Amino acid sequence: MNSNKIFWGARLQLAGWYAGVMSIILTVSGVSIYQVMAHAHWQAVDRELESVAGTLHDSLEPLLTESDRIAINVQQILPNLCIIGEECQPESPARHILGAIQQDSFYALFLTRSGRLIATVGKPPIGMIPKIGQDPWQTIEDRKGNRYHQISLLLKNNRGESWGYLQVGRSLADYEQHLQQSKLTLIISLPIAFLMVSVASWYLAGIAIKPVYSSYRQIQQFTADAAHELRTPLAAIRATVESTLNSDAISEAESRDILQTINRQTVRLSELVQDLLLLSRMDLQLITLQKQTCCLNEIVGDLVEEVSSLAIQSNIDLKLKILHHSPIYINGNEDQLYRLILNVLINAIDYTPEYGTVELLLDHMDHHAMIQIQDNGIGISAVDLPNIFDRFYRVSSDRSRKKGGSGLGLAIAQAIAKVHNGNIQVKSELGKGSIFTIQLAHNP
Ligand code: ADP
Repeated sequence: MNSNKIFWGARLQLAGWYAGVMSIILTVSGVSIYQVMAHAHWQAVDRELESVAGTLHDSLEPLLTESDRIAINVQQILPNLCIIGEECQPESPARHILGAIQQDSFYALFLTRSGRLIATVGKPPIGMIPKIGQDPWQTIEDRKGNRYHQISLLLKNNRGESWGYLQVGRSLADYEQHLQQSKLTLIISLPIAFLMVSVASWYLAGIAIKPVYSSYRQIQQFTADAAHELRTPLAAIRATVESTLNSDAISEAESRDILQTINRQTVRLSELVQDLLLLSRMDLQLITLQKQTCCLNEIVGDLVEEVSSLAIQSNIDLKLKILHHSPIYINGNEDQLYRLILNVLINAIDYTPEYGTVELLLDHMDHHAMIQIQDNGIGISAVDLPNIFDRFYRVSSDRSRKKGGSGLGLAIAQAIAKVHNGNIQVKSELGKGSIFTIQLAHNP
């Protein structure tokens, strides 16, 4: 297949399209998954901050007394509280009621109602002047480019008056590191996935194009065989005509001989063309068979009678066995059914030597009628057996040509069986004979 430029190109194109589409789908899916993940992570950050800030707010409010001033008992629940202007306590190993505040990434700021910073907890961004904005959520960046996300809440004292503001924030370093890692994984895995998709595409395109290639080869073979079959009678006619034209005078008897030769070849040609036409029409399902109820008993009876003279000439014992005596009817085209059985029967006689036996058996099973044509002739080898229904296939060209066969008989028989929802099978052994079994759906 790869040696044929058209198919190689088609395979390449198919693989290219497949790989391209798959790569786009992979990229879009990868980027979407990344965005969904980043969004979910961001929401988790928000939820975490909201929960820490909410808990702090609820725990602190009952302890706050005077506005803009940190009450002493605040330090009981926040031992690491660092009040601006006072010396900060060293980091206390004591656990806060809020575990999250103890994490390195979290911090809390206390601001007066005018926005002045009065106390901190944890590690707030260095060199940043805290601001209270309209939006409680803020994402800020320090001088080093480290980003923080924070929430501002208004605190009230235990008398319900506004006390000042609480800002709870966290560093986004671990969030950004996580996203960075995901981005890196995506950047590394996407080209690997593209590579794998390309290899798989090439392989799948090969599988997809194989049946197309084999039908293309069959058509090529068929065209070559058809041309070859047509050439033989045409060459014979041409040679006869040329030799006649070259001879000075020809007698009446010679003219008759010449015309007979031309007639024989013309008949062969027209039969061949008719067979080819029939096959191609059946292939394209152009034939609308005029189906009627046909009696198989009558058809096989007529056929045996018709070919009996041929069997007698070849000293062959031709037998007809009808196992089921009530008539078997099938819905079909009588001419076609006649042709189907005739082709197989003639072959059995043709390929059975003198004093051999050919037996036609008619029976019926549950849902189908069965016609079996059995001979004890030359048989077919296991190598040839799978090909005998192929168009123009002849086991031995010389042997078949002597019998005048073109190798289309069984192909036509098979096509007719198919359009009658039936099938034809063969069992054969070289030197021992063959059994052809035709099954056709019969009328109930
Ligand atoms: P042909 O016109 O050559 O007979 P067919 O399509 O009818 O073509 O048959 C294909 C080939 O199958 C024949 O060339 C023949 O060699 C083989 N064949 C068919 N029927 C028999 C049979 N009953 N016994 C042995 N060979 C057979």
